[in-house]
Amino acid sequence: MRKPLIAGNWKMNKTPYQAGLLIQEIKNLDLDSEVEALVCVPSIDIPSVREAMEGSCLRLGAENFFHEAEGAYTGEISGPMLKDYEVEYIIIGHSERRTIFKEDDDFIQKKVKAALDQGFKPILCVGESLEEREGGLAQKKVSDQLASDFQGLHEDDFEKIVIAYEPIWAIGTGKTASSEDAEEMCAFIRKEITASFGEKAGQSVRIQYGGSVKPGNVKEIMSQENIDGALVGGASLEAESFARLVNYKKN
Ligand code: PEP
Repeated sequence: MRKPLIAGNWKMNKTPYQAGLLIQEIKNLDLDSEVEALVCVPSIDIPSVREAMEGSCLRLGAENFFHEAEGAYTGEISGPMLKDYEVEYIIIGHSERRTIFKEDDDFIQKKVKAALDQGFKPILCVGESLEEREGGLAQKKVSDQLASDFQGLHEDDFEKIVIAYEPIWAIGTGKTASSEDAEEMCAFIRKEITASFGEKAGQSVRIQYGGSVKPGNVKEIMSQENIDGALVGGASLEAESFARLVNYKKN
């Protein structure tokens, strides 16, 4: 049974002080305990968020990390640093990192492998551009990303791995993929994982949809057979909106 996972991706928003306040506000709201509620926050917010979430059912994630454990990598954050704050999940290969910071699939593969080796749950983001979708290349793009980014992994790794299907054209634009299109791609992803890593991997991997998910469309998205969660940017930055996403069954 795959537990639904609603994850906020705060991106480069909230100072450490604001982050602590937001978590306090979320803690004052009832969250469905059958849904995993995760906040992935900027590295500098991690200490204040960890402190503020004490005693709640919220889970903590990072938005990025570097695959080496330590060394001369100015400006980077390592797994052991995140471990000190009991970070559980790490977003890897978000389209903003792929496009703005030029992270390629070789680099992303190293991060996925290192995250697993260090005991984290990676959330690997994949997805096509508008040009690729219109050119009929969406599945090929996603298939190529999965093949590269998951190179060298084992069937059991997929109990920890989350895949976020995020069509680039739907991120932060207000445009959402139709639930049918999202389901079609998520079913395709599950089929690809099954073909490459076996039935157990395909059944256990959790697949999220991301791209302009809001309280008003989350229930419809979550009703799809192969969608186990949502990765949410803008609508996760306000307590009530985040709680409504987590409580999607009541919408
Ligand atoms: C994201 O940041 O991964 C995302 C999907 O953003 P938004 O929900 O704002 O489109």
